[in-house]
Amino acid sequence: MRTLTKLLIAILFITTVCISCKKRAVTPKYKTENIIVVIVDGARYSETWGDSSHKYIPHLSGQLSKTGVINTQFYNNGPTYTLAGHTSITTGFYQEINNSGNEIPRYPSFFQYFNTRYLFNKTISCIISSKDKLEILKNCQEVEFNNKFLPFSNCGINGSGSGYREDSVTLNVLFQVLSEYHPKLTLVSFKEPDFSAHSNNWKKYIKGIQYTDEYVYQIWKYIQSDNNYNGKTSLFVTNDHGRHLDSIADGFASHGDACLGCRHINLFAYGPDFKQGVVLDNKREIIDICATISELLQLEMKYDKGKIMNELFK
Ligand SMILES: [Zn+2]
Ligand SMILES: [Zn+2]
Repeated sequence: MRTLTKLLIAILFITTVCISCKKRAVTPKYKTENIIVVIVDGARYSETWGDSSHKYIPHLSGQLSKTGVINTQFYNNGPTYTLAGHTSITTGFYQEINNSGNEIPRYPSFFQYFNTRYLFNKTISCIISSKDKLEILKNCQEVEFNNKFLPFSNCGINGSGSGYREDSVTLNVLFQVLSEYHPKLTLVSFKEPDFSAHSNNWKKYIKGIQYTDEYVYQIWKYIQSDNNYNGKTSLFVTNDHGRHLDSIADGFASHGDACLGCRHINLFAYGPDFKQGVVLDNKREIIDICATISELLQLEMKYDKGKIMNELFK
């Protein structure tokens, strides 16, 4: 009798799950099934796309830009420090936030909205970063989403409070996660060139730009080599903020105000739904990434203030 009751409860549970899954099913509007967002922390526009020789970003300016869209008028119009910049990207909302990792974003991210469709897949969306403090992007304060629908995360040496790790480790973790779990929505964040710039070391700062350009190239190649991603993945490459113009404070070593150097950032978008080999110069901003991701995945994000970048689409 007890077994029969258990069986009936099990059947009821499975039926309920199936019904709720069906309710959440969304008919795709685009070819994009997966999204990877790459954030290169604190690269200044004048050493990247804004340098007409593009000498420090040979991959982005060469092969990559031919396959996607570049926008030369892309800005962070909110607070220009790491956690605020990243939060603007994932929530589509500008807010001040503690930059040490002691505060979670006010509103839910595209991860949390997306995860409402995949309640039993804990690795369907992922945050992978060199800076441990970026783990705060997982969660939010808004009551309906607080501690719910959290993405998988692998940040810093060993999560929040453990310290930064090398970007080469982060890249390896990314490839491991992509090949093992096939997440559909992934954010990867590199600490360079921001980390070296803060020590006022120009050579290392430039090196950070060069090797993150190489890492972006490897990610772009990976997408095309993996059957789970090839032809059905959109890639966004951007920065959380820039750095001061040379005439402001200590120049490239710092950032955080409203100067053009801190605001002006890069945007590269690549994917089956986007144009190829196009360079745009219409003004867009960092929160528009969230709105565009939300459109691609048909999320209904309540607090997202960005606008869909329709001009990226074919
Ligand atoms: Zn910084
Ligand atoms: Zn500045």
